[in-house]
Amino acid sequence: TMLVAVAFSAVAELWADFMRASGAADRVFELLDREPAIAAGGVQLPEVRGHLEFRDVHFAYPTRSDVPVLQGVNLELLPGEVVAVVGPSGAGKSTLASLLSRFYDPQGGAVLLDGHPLTTLDPDWLRRNVAMVAQEPQLFSCSVADNIRYGRPDATDAQIEEAARAANAHAFIQRFPEAYATQVGERGVQLSGGQKQRVAIARAVLKDPRLLILDEATSALDAESEHLVKDALERLMQGRTTLIIAHRLSTVANADRVLVLEGGHVIQSGTHAALMGQDGLYRRLVERQFVAA
Ligand code: ADP
Ligand code: MG
Repeated sequence: TMLVAVAFSAVAELWADFMRASGAADRVFELLDREPAIAAGGVQLPEVRGHLEFRDVHFAYPTRSDVPVLQGVNLELLPGEVVAVVGPSGAGKSTLASLLSRFYDPQGGAVLLDGHPLTTLDPDWLRRNVAMVAQEPQLFSCSVADNIRYGRPDATDAQIEEAARAANAHAFIQRFPEAYATQVGERGVQLSGGQKQRVAIARAVLKDPRLLILDEATSALDAESEHLVKDALERLMQGRTTLIIAHRLSTVANADRVLVLEGGHVIQSGTHAALMGQDGLYRRLVERQFVAA
């Protein structure tokens, strides 16, 4: 099984690079989630407090090991804290998210959950306790209900509807020809970006994770969708440790703390107000309204 695991992870890596190059990195997360754990075994914590720490994390992608991507990143999220990460394109923001989902492991330093390095934890268990809402979620070609149920396979129809309501998705789902049984994707209804995000949020609501990773949508959602997505996310974040890759000023202004990542380093950290008082990259990003961040 060791050999199989190694072979799988090598294929997964190549595939990830390919998907990334084709601009479909988000789909990788979603699909890999369905694959068996890369390494079997590990610890399951009886309870998750949600204390998250990146401790002197160094990372380069295996296929480009000569290019350092994270160069000694330190960051800490206390249980229930909401931390926004901003920075220019290529700074390493999405890489932080992939390390958290153990899509890759760092070559130096460690990512710790409640003091335990992620590499010592059972990957299946970890996946059940972390939810990711990607920038452009990919839905599976099945019913709306099953797309939501993916967050918790044994969920009842009533629980699915409850999650959809919390995600502001129930109303539009009800308007589909067969409501929750409607097929989505290639041979079914096409969802708008804002609707896809709300289905992904419903999935996360159902999963009820201690840790949440959000990659905010950069593409303009229509005004109503944007409001409904934001409202649903705010509800989802309550009481959970949340790392947001933020593209919107309103998000960073509400976060407990903001980290500015550039070239694989955390170069600034503090509240929005504190960082606005410094002559640094953060203020320039805000002045440019995070364009292409
Ligand atoms: P951000 O999300 O801040 O835009 P990323 O974390 O996606 O930045 O990328 C950081 C750096 O790592 C970039 O230089 C990018 O080209 C590189 N990179 C990202 N994914 C891969 C990959 N799968 N293989 C090789 N290099 C990658
Ligand atoms: Mg990114």
